[in-house]
Amino acid sequence: MTKTSRIPGFHRMAPRERLAAVAAFAGLDADAVERLGDTGNLDAALADRLIENVIGTMNIPLGVATNMRIDGEDVLIPMATEESSVVAAVCNAGRQCYENGGFATSLSGTVMIAQIQAVNVADPQAARLRILDQRAAIQAACDACDPVLVSLGGGFRDVEARVLETAGGVMLITHLIVDTRDAMGANAVNSMAEKLAPSIERWTGGRVYLRILSNLADRRLARARAVWRCADIGGVAVRDGIISAYHFAAADPYRAATHNKGVMNGISAVVLATGNDTRAVEAGAHAYAARSGSYSSLTRFEVTADGDLSGSIELPMAVGLVGGATRLHPTAQSCLKILGVTSAERLARIIAAVGLAQNFSALKALATTGIQKGHMALHAQNIAMMAGALGDEIERVAAALVAGGVVRIDVAQSVLADLRNS
Ligand code: NAD
Repeated sequence: MTKTSRIPGFHRMAPRERLAAVAAFAGLDADAVERLGDTGNLDAALADRLIENVIGTMNIPLGVATNMRIDGEDVLIPMATEESSVVAAVCNAGRQCYENGGFATSLSGTVMIAQIQAVNVADPQAARLRILDQRAAIQAACDACDPVLVSLGGGFRDVEARVLETAGGVMLITHLIVDTRDAMGANAVNSMAEKLAPSIERWTGGRVYLRILSNLADRRLARARAVWRCADIGGVAVRDGIISAYHFAAADPYRAATHNKGVMNGISAVVLATGNDTRAVEAGAHAYAARSGSYSSLTRFEVTADGDLSGSIELPMAVGLVGGATRLHPTAQSCLKILGVTSAERLARIIAAVGLAQNFSALKALATTGIQKGHMALHAQNIAMMAGALGDEIERVAAALVAGGVVRIDVAQSVLADLRNS
């Protein structure tokens, strides 16, 4: 029988029924079906409401980073990630600046931007001013969209209009600047942009197509800084190695991509653990890193007047405590409780500190022993499991791989075979 991806009524089925249909399509065995159907700490009915066509859930380890002191307060950091060494990196960076006060952070505001694209505007320069003239009407329309947000001190803040030259001709782009308080705000500002579109067409005489937020949330910049004392990090050579690594990333997009990937190892893990939108934060971070026209480092490292290592980070951080999965996912709620945050501002600031911590540890490892040494113990366990090791065998095979200095699946298979034969 030929397989078909046309499964009538799939979206109307219950998760278990969908799973059965997928199992039949893919030839999944009973064990795989059982595991997929076990939704762990996320209720299947809730999962089914969060996204479409649910068949199960994907569990990712949740670790907690220790040693973090942020704005004078000790914080435990829940991190959801499948990658080894990410949690340890934050613990290590936090420990090495803990005695020196840890991290100091700030946020530029909880403000998002929605864009409205108008095309075929005959007089874009004058139309731009006609839009700005309507500020009061725009404010009233935006705030009427979300009285809850307004009652919480948020809502419309400003309107901007840009004449944009494009390959498809001149466009007039209106920006709604909206304070979304403790929400990430995508739905909030998208509704406002959609509501305003007919008025924009009237004022400009053009045609509106897109009405959507910008993930380049550069009115919502989270900042963190820390000073690592030279003596606490292994001396001047280590300090200078870290600074040289930063200079490399600042000058070279090939290196900056990997440098920032490391930053996002820490950031995305906390964003995910708190039920926030990892792609929104990642898109904002990378767009911000490229804002000069050349993709560069999200962090900076310098020598202080006392000869210590000063690190800093600044990037858009559109995260919330309400909206999306943040309020609905019970694990996200527990993670927010572990963090002790009661505002989106505090969450954003903590996440920036985690990004800086992650980057410090990665650069330190790269500039000294190399990244593989720290990775090896956990990586060897993963390889041992891939080779088929079970229970106690995992540790024993991993230890043999590390001792032998070659961590490879074929070596793990042969170590495992010897172990089982002995
Ligand atoms: P939402 O609309 O579910 O919740 C926000 C609303 O909650 C506010 O508009 C307000 O009315 C209310 N609210 C209650 N208490 C509040 C408080 N203390 N502070 C602020 N508002 C409060 O969620 P959202 O944040 O507007 O949207 C987030 C979701 O949108 C995420 O799931 C994201 O994945 C998704 N999304 C993202 C994009 C993108 O990034 N490009 C696009 C579309 C949707």
